[in-house]
Amino acid sequence: MTELLSPGGTMEMVREALGAGADSVYVGPLGWSRREAAYELPHHQILEVIQMAHDRGARLRVALNADIEEADHAEMMRKVEAYACRGVDGFIVKTPKAMRAIHARFPEITIHASVGCNVRDRSAMERIREAGATQFVASTALSTYDRIAALKRTADEVGLGVELLIHSNRCVTGVGGCRLYDYFAPYFEEQVVHDSDGATRTKLIGNPDKGGVCYRPCLGTHIPQIAERFPAKVLTYLEKSNNEIYALLEDVPRYIALGVTTLKIQGREYPTPLIAELTKIYRRLIDQTRAGLADVVSARAALDPVLAERDRCRTAKTRQLHERLMAKVSEELHRQLVARMAATDWDPNAEESRLRRAEPTA
Ligand code: SF4
Repeated sequence: MTELLSPGGTMEMVREALGAGADSVYVGPLGWSRREAAYELPHHQILEVIQMAHDRGARLRVALNADIEEADHAEMMRKVEAYACRGVDGFIVKTPKAMRAIHARFPEITIHASVGCNVRDRSAMERIREAGATQFVASTALSTYDRIAALKRTADEVGLGVELLIHSNRCVTGVGGCRLYDYFAPYFEEQVVHDSDGATRTKLIGNPDKGGVCYRPCLGTHIPQIAERFPAKVLTYLEKSNNEIYALLEDVPRYIALGVTTLKIQGREYPTPLIAELTKIYRRLIDQTRAGLADVVSARAALDPVLAERDRCRTAKTRQLHERLMAKVSEELHRQLVARMAATDWDPNAEESRLRRAEPTA
């Protein structure tokens, strides 16, 4: 039966999503997932929410979906062991090597290939199945029913479950398929996070694959300092591309009929009431579909005001990220200026006196 998977960016969000009817909730351990630390949970809370989900007859998935280096596998497995001992129901993973390590130790636990894997063809499916994945999140580059149905047929042949983001950010070439943020690598910022089990991780703000948030430069091309860092052909591409919401509401009944394994709501970074409301809307539609009474029109009417709120939150967040990026750009320019001054004998005080001497007198 198709499950509804909701985000858990905080303990409160986990509780509310479960109360709103999620079959399962996913959370990220501090430092290990594709979200800012503010939307991840410390180790002890993850142990608590596994129990909280089980007490309500639901499941709990843990996202370890940043790029995790092999050197960090021992530390990752320490966490995996702790969560597995508490009965965690699945891990959401990006790198095949990390999938292999988890699958070798816990072959019975569900492994979701993260949306960051950007799976959209048979060869990618075979690669992750060989690594131990049991299901994968379909690339957000695919948004029509026909393309998703074709993907599902291939997944059936390969022997993998399909998970669909029914409500998510899109990203221009699909989440996980974009490296545009690399143009801003000089402005990435290291953030060290300390977990309650004593573990320490370093996130790279600006690089979502390294556990930091993306500065979303693709949405900042109206800002000259951002636009000028993209090559002209990229700017032209961005003008024609779409990084707005990815939402599949109207086709939910058809995806359930198709037999997709999981319908997932993205959004650990959104306010809890918004996630609770989204969960309720999709829960109702899934239940109606199962009863043969799907009412997509009412679901759309309920969803539209929530989308307006979601857009407001997302726009505010994007603005904040652009301000953060611009602050890094200014810092870097200042650093370069100071370095240039140090490398020459240019003296700003002498320059000021020279300019003053040159000023016309009244
Ligand atoms: S630059 Fe834009 S499209 Fe690329 S990862 Fe960031 S938000 Fe997504």
